[in-house]
Amino acid sequence: MLLLDGRKARAHYTALLIEKVNKLSFSPRLAIIQVGNRADSDAFIKAKKSFANKIGVKEIHTKLPGEVSQEEILQIIKKYNEDKDVHGIIVQLPLPPHLDSEFIINSIDPKKDTDGLTPNTTVMPATARGISQLMDFYNIDIKNKKVVVVGRSKLVGMPIAEMCKKRGGIVNICHSKTPYLREETIKSDILIVATGRAHLIKKEYVKEGAVVIDVGITRLDNGELTGDVDFYDVKDTVSMISPVPGGVGQMTVLALFENLLDACYNTKYE
Ligand code: NAP
Repeated sequence: MLLLDGRKARAHYTALLIEKVNKLSFSPRLAIIQVGNRADSDAFIKAKKSFANKIGVKEIHTKLPGEVSQEEILQIIKKYNEDKDVHGIIVQLPLPPHLDSEFIINSIDPKKDTDGLTPNTTVMPATARGISQLMDFYNIDIKNKKVVVVGRSKLVGMPIAEMCKKRGGIVNICHSKTPYLREETIKSDILIVATGRAHLIKKEYVKEGAVVIDVGITRLDNGELTGDVDFYDVKDTVSMISPVPGGVGQMTVLALFENLLDACYNTKYE
C-alpha cells in the first residue's frame, strides 16, 4: 500500500509556488474576511496566514464581530473588489445564520474569487484542486476508471466530482440517500469520500487494489482528528490511500494559493 502523503506533495508544490511568487514584480495580496469567533475558522485562517507568510503573499485579515450586518460585509467586499492591490478575496465559511452566505459570496469579483465559489467561475474550489494536484504528484490516472465520490455538497463533493470528470473518470456521485452505498463503492477503482462521517468506509466497502482519497475531517471526543475512512481496517485492501491528518487537508491550503496566483496572472496586475 502506498500512502498518498499530502505533506510531501505540498512541499514539492510549495517550492514551485515560491518561485512563481518571486518572479512577480509585486507581492500578491489576499483579503480574508472572518465573521465571529468559531474555533475551527480561527484554525483554518491561522493555517492560511502561516502559508501566505511562508510563500511571500501578504494577507489582510478582517475579523468582524458575529453580529455584523450584511451591509457592512458587502461594503468591505466592495472595497477589496475595487482595490487593485488586492488580488484575492475569501470569506471564511460558515457565516452566522443571520447572514445570506450565497449573496455575500456572489458579491465577490469573480476575478478575485480565490475559493472558486461564485457562479460561472472558472476557478476550481480549493479542495478539488488540491486533490487534483495530489493525483498529479502520485501519477494517478483516472481516465476511463470508475470513480465514486461519496458526498455531494456544493463546496466539496460536487466540485471534486466535476474535477474527476474533467480528468476523464467515469464518475458516480453517492450521498446520504444512496440506498445501498456499499454496492456502489465496492465497484470503484478510485473512491473519494467527503461526508464528515467518521469511519463510514470500512474494508467491505472497498474494492481490492482501489485508490482511496479521504477528504473528511472529524475531531473525535479524545481530540484526535480522523477521516471518513477506517484507515486501519482498509489499509491492506487498497493500493493507495490518503491519511487524515496529513493527506487532502495539506493540499487544500496550497490549492487556495495556486488559485490566488492564477488570479494575479489573469488580472495582469504584474
Ligand atoms: P456537508 O456539506 O455536510 O456534506 C456532506 C455530504 O456527505 C452530503 O452530500 C451528504 O449527503 C453526504 N453524506 C452524509 N452522510 C452520509 C452517509 N452516511 N452516507 C453517504 N453520504 C453521506 O459537508 P462538506 O462541507 O461537504 O464536508 C465534508 C467533509 O469534508 C467534512 O468532514 C469536512 O470537514 C471535510 N472537508 C475537508 C477539507 C480538506 O481540506 N480536507 C476541506 C473541506 C471539507 P446529502 O447531500 O444527502 O445530505
